[in-house]
Amino acid sequence: SNFQIAIDGPSSSGKSTVAQAIAKKLDIIYIDTGAMYRAVTLAVLQDSINVSDAERVEKKLSTLNLSFKRSDEGIQEMYLNNQNVSREIRSDVVTANVSEISAYPFVREKLVEDQRNMASTHSVVMDGRDIGTVVLPHAEYKFFLNASAKVRAKRRFDENIEKGLSNQTLEEIEESIVARDHYDSNREHSPLKKADDAIELETDHLSVEQVVNTIINHIKK
Ligand code: C5P
Repeated sequence: SNFQIAIDGPSSSGKSTVAQAIAKKLDIIYIDTGAMYRAVTLAVLQDSINVSDAERVEKKLSTLNLSFKRSDEGIQEMYLNNQNVSREIRSDVVTANVSEISAYPFVREKLVEDQRNMASTHSVVMDGRDIGTVVLPHAEYKFFLNASAKVRAKRRFDENIEKGLSNQTLEEIEESIVARDHYDSNREHSPLKKADDAIELETDHLSVEQVVNTIINHIKK
């Protein structure tokens, strides 16, 4: 029967890399909820809507269709109204605005509903900020990944270089990570928070493989 794995944690804690590897090993579906908040943000910015304009954001949201498709290489791609936006949603301008968009209760309501629907018909590993607490409170397995801001900034910096995503310096990235964590942890609705029954993994000194193996070992028990 179906089961659910919830992985939460702050920005660049390695959640999505780890979740993707787990999905592959267990042959289940990976849902990157951050990508969904990013896609909504991208749509708002593409229409030059001010992110503080709740009314226009809400109107835009009602026209959006979000879905995931697996590429030929087995990578989960984000689609916004049938356009592949996997790369655009990682831009600095989306990253700088996504926390404000994801703080709107009407945005969360719609995306959480979509996320629960995706999890209702398949076994899933889902990553985000509120998966263990709000989206899937009854998930069989819950993990909270953490790492220091310095280590997370370095990981993001290396990834940006590898993928040619951004020219931000290490310092700028660390600042943006700290600001986003602060905003995400202090918002009124579904703040970033470890679920009481989640297993916390401090990943500063762990490789991706070690984190994946630790999680898989918990699941096999
Ligand atoms: O995980 P990622 O860094 O791509 O998430 C981007 C942003 O989306 C987060 O900073 C947060 O504001 C928001 N988010 C959220 N709830 C989730 C996933 C992401 O609020 N479940």
